[in-house]
This record gives sequence, structure tokens and C-alpha cells, in this order.
Amino acid sequence: MSYLPADLRERLLAADNRHCAYCTTTEANTGQPMTVDHITPQAQGGETAFDNLCFACRRCNEYKGSAIHAEDPLTGETVPLFHPRQQSWGDHFQWDESGTMLIGLTSIGRATVVALNMNNPLIVDVRRRWVSVGWHPPTN
Ligand SMILES: [Zn+2]
Repeated sequence: MSYLPADLRERLLAADNRHCAYCTTTEANTGQPMTVDHITPQAQGGETAFDNLCFACRRCNEYKGSAIHAEDPLTGETVPLFHPRQQSWGDHFQWDESGTMLIGLTSIGRATVVALNMNNPLIVDVRRRWVSVGWHPPTN
């Protein structure tokens, strides 16, 4: 995890409620500490400032890499990835009925679900185990 001043870290923790800002996975779900994602990567001029940072699980952060755009699997159109500081999670994503699969509601949501591999079999298995003991996935 990159270095962050303590006050900035606290602000992010409060804003993201200790969830991955993309797939909503918590540290408790995976046993892995959250990473700090530069929404626009530093290599593309993204600053280390609240408006360009979010908490992301290791998996989302790695799949996201340096991408800021991806293809909507429905239309084939290239669209921006979900921006957790400028957009509302619930406008772009929802859980399926089982609470284990994320559904993209918009072109941005669909592109982000695919680009970040948010329904990969390993995390869906983890979600299934948590749901089976009464956990409900957060909706950020
Ligand atoms: Zn995630």
C-alpha cells in the first residue's frame, strides 16, 4: 500500500466505509488489507488527493491496473471505468438475487464489472460462503 498521510487515510476509510469502492468486498471478507487506488493512475497525472483516491481490494486494484477506460460488453463501446468519487455506486451496480454476483446497470457499470473481473469464481465462492451465514453484501 502506498504511503498516505494519516488524515487522508482516515478520510478514505470513512468515505469508503472499509469496503472496496468497486466490488464492496471488505477486509473481513478476504483477510487481506485494502489497497489505495489512484482512480486516475499517477502515471497519467492522477494526484494523491482525496478526489482521486479510493480503497480497493487487491484483486480489483490489480485488474484495474492503469486502465481508466474499458469496453462495455453489451455495446462494444469504450467507456470510462466507474469513478468512486464522482459517481454513485448504486447508479451503476447492483447485486443479483443471490447476493454473490455483481450486475452492471449502465455501460460504465458493465465495463467495470468485466475489466476488474468483479465476478471471478474465487470471489463469488467467498461471497457464497458469507451469504450462507447470513451476511448481506454492502451496496456502498
Ligand atoms: Zn474489489
